[in-house]
Amino acid sequence: MKRQMPSTKELEREIKDRVKSMFRKDFEDATEEEIYRACAEVVNDVVIDNWLTTQKEFVKQDPKCVYYMSMEFLIGRLLGNNMINMRGYTEVMDALANLGVDINLIEDQEPDPALGNGGLGRLAACFLDSLATLQYPAYGCGIRYHYGMFKQKINDGFQEEVPDDWLQTRYPFELQRSEYEFEVKFGGWVRYENQPDGSTKYIHEGYNSVIATPYDMPITGFDNGMVNTLMIWDAKPKEVFRLASFERGDYNKAVEDMNLARNLTEVLYPNDNHIQGKELRLKQQYFFVSASLQRAIDKYLRYHNDIMRLPEKVVFQMNDTHPTLTVAELMRLLMDEHGLGWDDAWEVTTHCVAYTNHTIMAEALEKWPEDIFKGLLPRIYMIVEEINRRFCEEIKAKFPGDDEKVHRMAILADGQVKMAHMAICAGFSVNGVAALHTEILKNVSLHDFYEMYPEKFNNKTNGITQRRFLMHGNYKLSDWVIKKIGRGWITDLSQMEKLTMLLDDKKSLQQFMDIKLENKKRLAKYIFDHNGIAVDPNSIFDVQVKRLHEYKRQLLNILHVMYLYNQIKEHPEMDFYPTTFIFGAKASAGYENAKLIIKLINNVGAVINNDKSIDNKLKVVFIEDYRVSNAEWIFAAADVSEQISTASKEASGTGNMKFMLNGAVTIGTMDGANVEMYQELGGENIFIFGMSSDEVIAHEKNHDYNPVDEMNKNPHIQKVLSQLVNGNYSIDNPELFRPIYNSLLNTQCTERADTYFVLKDFASYCEAHEKIQEAYKDREKWARMALSNVAHVGKFSSDRTIQEYVDDIWHLDKLELK
Ligand SMILES: *Cc1c(COP(=O)(O)O)cnc(C)c1O
Repeated sequence: MKRQMPSTKELEREIKDRVKSMFRKDFEDATEEEIYRACAEVVNDVVIDNWLTTQKEFVKQDPKCVYYMSMEFLIGRLLGNNMINMRGYTEVMDALANLGVDINLIEDQEPDPALGNGGLGRLAACFLDSLATLQYPAYGCGIRYHYGMFKQKINDGFQEEVPDDWLQTRYPFELQRSEYEFEVKFGGWVRYENQPDGSTKYIHEGYNSVIATPYDMPITGFDNGMVNTLMIWDAKPKEVFRLASFERGDYNKAVEDMNLARNLTEVLYPNDNHIQGKELRLKQQYFFVSASLQRAIDKYLRYHNDIMRLPEKVVFQMNDTHPTLTVAELMRLLMDEHGLGWDDAWEVTTHCVAYTNHTIMAEALEKWPEDIFKGLLPRIYMIVEEINRRFCEEIKAKFPGDDEKVHRMAILADGQVKMAHMAICAGFSVNGVAALHTEILKNVSLHDFYEMYPEKFNNKTNGITQRRFLMHGNYKLSDWVIKKIGRGWITDLSQMEKLTMLLDDKKSLQQFMDIKLENKKRLAKYIFDHNGIAVDPNSIFDVQVKRLHEYKRQLLNILHVMYLYNQIKEHPEMDFYPTTFIFGAKASAGYENAKLIIKLINNVGAVINNDKSIDNKLKVVFIEDYRVSNAEWIFAAADVSEQISTASKEASGTGNMKFMLNGAVTIGTMDGANVEMYQELGGENIFIFGMSSDEVIAHEKNHDYNPVDEMNKNPHIQKVLSQLVNGNYSIDNPELFRPIYNSLLNTQCTERADTYFVLKDFASYCEAHEKIQEAYKDREKWARMALSNVAHVGKFSSDRTIQEYVDDIWHLDKLELK
């Protein structure tokens, strides 16, 4: 039976009781942190009962299950999310209010679990939310990093990275499961033994090993009693006691094992769309893949005896190439541990694994040096060699005489292990994450593979969960929508379409804009408290929040702000609607260009925000430490959503969808899912600019783009670029921004100057902004555009995405819950 949250009155009593039993304090004397912990346990009580019931039904109904394999799960805070999904948010809010406490302050005590970088990790979290809500049996499999994504501090305009010690105090929503521990082995060598029956036995020797311990987190569905599991793995040494009371054995090996376990899950690599080919990263990959597969097979064999029928009950979805070792590790377990021959093991493996591609950019494609790979994973390497041998034979058979093609497609070539090639060779499904992205995969980046296996390729346009990004982040708009069209959209976002009937209702439009203003005031206060900058809630809030990457073109945005500032200074009389440009972005710790762009944004802000002569027409704010918790408030407050990546570079984007859900209007390129937003919205409700992906790809192929030409024909660009290096935004060090200047103009610096076509798209971007200015001045017209965005957001729910994965790839059955 589904267990419900207690009533407000009961909650008041339960929270007070918990504070007393946990901290030996009266409620009045408890700190906000203690109240948070008490609330978490009260909610946990309900969650745990539903978790138990769900898992019992799993055993009874024995459904097929998806294991979502991901190095990252950017889940964000769970207290608020769990209260919403258990249908008790308002009750807890009221109970706390009756006790004299603001629920926001209590929620704010929770560390924001940041076990991911950005879009890819947040997608995994949205998928888990949708799987539970749609009642599909699922496990998330990942790593329990002791330090997640670093906290960002801005000091004198520069980014500083501070370790994110999220486990400093016990995290209330995780449960250690020591009964599901597994050993994972690294290094050593492989010995062969010929068996009497003619087969060969492979024995792994001389290895170091760690014990993988899972921590389970409950993933609650919305109002259905379903609770799935996110298992994140931690490492511990195999024999902890050995050092303390050391008597026998190999001392050095014990030390090595200990250090291996210590380092393995210590920290998340802070790279987004970029690889860092470090051995420790490969260790992390194998560690969580091996442990997760062992647990999955263990669970399967508890209730079944025919391992050949594993694909009927289990599917592994690989989130990008990071978990591609799933292929070879599953082969190893099936052959070495469960006695299958190669052909049977391959049959099972190729029906169990599927691959999602997230990027086409060269620097993000995973390739491991063969010697590192072989040294760390000797048995896995042997298996990869055999997969590669057979794969190359298959290519030769299909395209006789094309040796070039074999070389291009091989898994092992040029001394490297190419992870994407292995994922495509073994996966029964290969999907892109937006329609345009999938087309580029088929026609350009993965064309060879598409010719070989056209039937494997399919598209699954990304999505987001409306429970977190509207119900939790923007409860005012959420409540208003409920009043207007009911509650159906909470689990069926296509029902937002019903809002179109309000598009010509002035009163509704006014209410809608009043809510936006309230949300802008909430963010303005946050900005004042954190940045000390007073922004006008009546100005246009123009927002770009996402990881800092040159392809996402925060540089285009800030150069345009510099241009606007010049215009306002030169033409003080010009008609300009006051605008607040808001940025939020973390740069990877070693990405110098990206960090310098953060400094530029902050320095431009410092000059503009302190210039009294422009009458507060322009403000520039950089919000420190952009993360899931403050993201929710930022989306709710945005008027304009900046989605301005170089066309063809952003596989999908999901930030774009969160803004749309919250009634912001997009200025964007025809890239990623922006293309599909445009199709849903019609051209009147989105501001599109810049080159198409075809044009970008053609320029890249023909090497015929020269940014100097763009500068020479546009005096505004000339002025802005000169201001990068004349000390205008860095008086004491005029050379500070020279590297940015050079990256745009100097061919010596990179392979091609202005790699991401910032100058090429500049004029078109300025024009699009002028149109936004015009549109915003007509308040009713703007309200209609913004509400249109909410009304047409239906497609972009992760519920829709997950249903497509289920129908086309996973073929799961819903769990029945009473
Ligand atoms: C959604 C989200 C992202 C992804 O944003 P994009 O604009 O798609 O790159 C990154 N970080 C956080 C915290 C998010 O919530």
